[in-house]
Amino acid sequence: FILCICSINKSNICCSNHHFASPSSFSLINLSLKQLKLEGYLSFEKLNHAAKDFGNRCHFLPLAILYPKSVTDISSTIKNIFDIGNITDLTVAARGHGHSLEGQAQAYQGLVINMESLQTPEMKFKTMELPYVDVSAGELWINILHESLKLGLAPKSGTDYLHLTVGGTLSNAGISGQAFKHGPQINNVYQLEVVTGKGEVITCSEEQNADLFHGVLGGLGQFGIITRARIALEAAAKKVKWIRVLYSDFATFSNDQENLISSEDTFDYIEGFVIISKTGLLNNWRSTFNPKDPLPASNFSSEGKVLFCLEVAKYFNPEDMDSIDQNIDILLSKLNYIRSTLFLSEVSCMEFLDRVHVSEMKLQEKGLWDVPHPWLNLLIPKSRILDFAQEVFGKILTDSINGPILIYPVNKSKWRKGTSMVTPEEDVFYLIAFLSSAIPSSTGKDGLEHMLDQNKRILNFCEKARIGMKQYLANHKTQEEWQDHFGPQWEAFARRKSIYDPLAILAPGQRIFRRAA
Ligand code: FAD
Repeated sequence: FILCICSINKSNICCSNHHFASPSSFSLINLSLKQLKLEGYLSFEKLNHAAKDFGNRCHFLPLAILYPKSVTDISSTIKNIFDIGNITDLTVAARGHGHSLEGQAQAYQGLVINMESLQTPEMKFKTMELPYVDVSAGELWINILHESLKLGLAPKSGTDYLHLTVGGTLSNAGISGQAFKHGPQINNVYQLEVVTGKGEVITCSEEQNADLFHGVLGGLGQFGIITRARIALEAAAKKVKWIRVLYSDFATFSNDQENLISSEDTFDYIEGFVIISKTGLLNNWRSTFNPKDPLPASNFSSEGKVLFCLEVAKYFNPEDMDSIDQNIDILLSKLNYIRSTLFLSEVSCMEFLDRVHVSEMKLQEKGLWDVPHPWLNLLIPKSRILDFAQEVFGKILTDSINGPILIYPVNKSKWRKGTSMVTPEEDVFYLIAFLSSAIPSSTGKDGLEHMLDQNKRILNFCEKARIGMKQYLANHKTQEEWQDHFGPQWEAFARRKSIYDPLAILAPGQRIFRRAA
């Protein structure tokens, strides 16, 4: 049977086609899974949390959850499902920290693998020459940062929020304000261990099984479950100068951002965000930022205009304090921001890199973290960014979206070639993230319906104006949409699927391939 599940709330619609196993094959799967010899265990109860994610809009109950203790637990389970073959249409989803937006880590009536249970290998560091750490793919980036800092090291490239797993972000890209320098996280990994959709355990890197390595990076979980990763590290600075300046003109703002990402002598982190608000400028700033001298900023009136905030950071050690101040002055002197709007704060490396978690805890306290998140993440080529800004920030978004709007350029020449990650064709493109939170049951501007409608208007504009946009963390619903998304890369993507996961067992929540049954 094919079943279409729609949640009851009209504004909360999440549809997907799912196969249903027939009762006899259902019992067979159950029996077969129960007979597996595992170091960890399988649970057929308490399944609700595996049907939830950060997006809080899709809820698909699995049949069972595997809590693996070893790679063998994962490989023998998948091999078992593969060997049963077409009698069943059971699918398998690796679940990292479940911070997907639309059910990407869920498997309706399938098996969810709780990757955080996989604690092997223990973190192992190499500290000399090209330093790295070997970690389980279920490890959270925040734990890797904690352990690395003890050795004076840190991952070269991160995400803004670190309470995500290695496997979860490597399956997408892992983009943040360090990507202009080091590329995204998928650039900064030397080796992976992967369990394919046939249950084989394969080690891969640029030199060994490179096709699988490239496929899995940004591969949306389609070709295998990453079980171990070798992550590139660099020397960590102890302190961070964290700076924000404002612009009222988008062209000036983006020009400065583009100059900064293409200069040799520049900041270590470059991002930015849009402030769309008629009132309370400071209320809209990310709450973790605590400016040393808030006086000029609080005197500044936006007069209802849309503002653009450049956010940059310079890493340093206390002994370099004087030279770093001089360097920052020189870098700032080349920028064209509104001079009275300089915010500067000095924090520890950990405070800076874990900054979003502070906001999370505040929102958790107010019950505003587990709300629906209709996020939209777009990659826009540099040549069309002014058209995009004019229409979207000037016309479509007339009110705050109830969450930050990040915007910053990255440089494709720094990105690893041949991965599954899809980007616009130009060398420089912008990441624009509309990170909205909807108030449950609201039918107003802070409600889900309104936000989804705004997203749709933005996407429609991009299509009509032929902006050449690609979605990041995309949630396309049909294979045709995915083919369009991948464009010329589709052929390689589909070829890899037929090699590494020919029965389309893995990551059904991405809705790219249908399980062969
Ligand atoms: P999950 O949601 O659990 O899984 C994501 C997908 O990967 C699923 O399809 C799943 O099946 C698959 N998967 C999970 N583990 C594995 C594995 N080991 N092997 C193979 N496939 C696997 N992204 C950025 O790039 N930059 C940011 O700055 C950023 N900030 C964020 C901030 C917040 C608050 C949130 C909620 C998300 C943010 N993201 C960011 C997006 C984030 O990178 C993705 O949502 C990521 O997938 C989350 O990781 P996870 O461990 O929760 O993955």
